[in-house]
Amino acid sequence: MDLISGTPFWPLRNGLLGTYPALQQPTECHVLVLGAGITGALVAWHLAEAGVDVVVVDKRDVATGSTSASTCLLQYEVDTPLHRLVHLVGEDHAVRAYRACHAALGKIARIDRRLGGQHGFRRTESLQGASRAAHVPGLQREVALRRRHGFDVDWWSRAQLARLSTLPYAGALLARDAAQIDAHRFTHSLLRATVARGARVYDRTQITRSAAHRRGLTLHTDRGLKIRARHLVVATGYETAPYLADALTTLMGTYALVTEPSAEFAGWPGERLIWETARPYVYLRRTDDGRAIIGGYDEATADPRRRDALLTRKTALLARRFRQLLPEAPCEVAFSWGGTFAETPDGLPYIGAHPRVPHATFALGYGGNGITFSVIAAEIIRDLVCEGRSRDAELFRFDRAATPAPPHTSPSAGR
Ligand SMILES: Cc1cc2nc3c(=O)[nH]c(=O)nc-3n(C[C@H](O)[C@H](O)[C@H](O)COP(=O)(O)OP(=O)(O)OC[C@H]3O[C@@H](n4cnc5c(N)ncnc54)[C@H](O)[C@@H]3O)c2cc1C
Repeated sequence: MDLISGTPFWPLRNGLLGTYPALQQPTECHVLVLGAGITGALVAWHLAEAGVDVVVVDKRDVATGSTSASTCLLQYEVDTPLHRLVHLVGEDHAVRAYRACHAALGKIARIDRRLGGQHGFRRTESLQGASRAAHVPGLQREVALRRRHGFDVDWWSRAQLARLSTLPYAGALLARDAAQIDAHRFTHSLLRATVARGARVYDRTQITRSAAHRRGLTLHTDRGLKIRARHLVVATGYETAPYLADALTTLMGTYALVTEPSAEFAGWPGERLIWETARPYVYLRRTDDGRAIIGGYDEATADPRRRDALLTRKTALLARRFRQLLPEAPCEVAFSWGGTFAETPDGLPYIGAHPRVPHATFALGYGGNGITFSVIAAEIIRDLVCEGRSRDAELFRFDRAATPAPPHTSPSAGR
């Protein structure tokens, strides 16, 4: 699948941070990690840290799939607000999932530090604006519910927003725990550290088919080589069709632009992450080299040609929205890009075994929080491989009971 349109910012800014050889000989390992994006890199790093014999393969150069296009906002709130998720999966399940995502932010911070802290990681806060007055009660309900479960959130009124910013929202939910990162650079560091722990990484090596047997799998590469593994971890991002026939997710096109650097973006309160209740929504973040990124305006299309064709229009729409949100700030578009991403019915990722794919574990961080989900997947998979069980695995398993939402529990559509 063609995953990206246009000019994603991170690989352009970072350049070629590392290359790996293609697999040239048949090989064996305990765990084969399929995919060297942020998810595969985190899974491999956790396994290598635990002393597991790991091989990672990717058909592209490493970190050039969706990871290179990510805008890399790190939020614990999933695409489905807690007060709606409660109706989909039950209160205990929903709160545990939110807590797992919250804990993942701290885990990313710790890994970033261990790997030298050069990945643009920064803790920040996030503001979710009520796009319309009718969205205020739902967002206030969200504040109350999250507070009740111990999340550090606050309510900003329209007057407070007007005093501190130019943001035209009817109110906003302030979440004190959020972060941002450069996932492209982070993935390269993770893979380097994984190799230092004895793992083997091969790029430009495509897995074309796999056969399960009693004690594991044999994977075949595009060069006609075989890899024998006890376990397979599928971390192929949005390219899972060869492994999972079920249509579990909806593929979407999404867009982003990055501005030229500026010392200040007037009207942006504390340069927090900004997002909103409207669908499709936009979001904002700063980069560590002084730019602003605005992204969003998702389009319901799985067709990369249609996604490409919309890039110019979506870039213009994002720039226009940027000027509406921050009319006193400069907005000179430097680069823009689009990418494919996927949504699940309840906004939670799929992590774990699938009954029809023996010896395999999936790490599918679908949704707006893909990177946060990747950390959760990495821990769950390490625990499943090393100990045969994981406390959080049940939250994200394929057969969790997601029931349709009751008719609008919130006036906000989705987020
Ligand atoms: C524009 C955009 C903005 C986003 N913003 C955010 C955000 O702000 N915050 C957030 O958390 N998430 C965000 N996401 C989502 C996030 O980028 C993804 O969740 C994440 O990058 C997925 O990483 P991955 O490693 O699973 O997939 P990928 O990076 O795509 O890696 C999968 C790898 O598998 C390889 N592969 C596939 N099939 C095979 C095969 N048969 N053989 C060998 N290799 C194979 C591919 O080549 C690829 O490199 C955004 C996504 C996009 C597109």
